[in-house]
Amino acid sequence: MAIHMRIKTGDLVSMRVGKDRGKTGKVLQVFPGDRRIVVEGANEHTKHARTRGRAGEKGQKITFWGTVPVANVSLICPKCSKPTRVGAKVLEDGKKARVCKKCSATL
Ligand SMILES: [Zn+2]
Repeated sequence: MAIHMRIKTGDLVSMRVGKDRGKTGKVLQVFPGDRRIVVEGANEHTKHARTRGRAGEKGQKITFWGTVPVANVSLICPKCSKPTRVGAKVLEDGKKARVCKKCSATL
């Protein structure tokens, strides 16, 4: 069975738990096998890039975002702008669509 993900790349989501709770960001990457996603601005990590030893040269700081469980986010509906749950419905042509449970918009 294919793994169904409620969240897609480009979605706007809100963090429900953890240190980034309440933050919103865009979904940059989706890993369906792990049920994890990368959200812009959430689960921030910083690492220092190594310099090649020239004295006085400052190490570069690189900021990147780690993965978070998809269960930790809520989709923000682009229609009603509220964090919402996503329902599924089957369209007339047999395709599946996502539906906002708050305003019933097809997403
Ligand atoms: Zn909605």
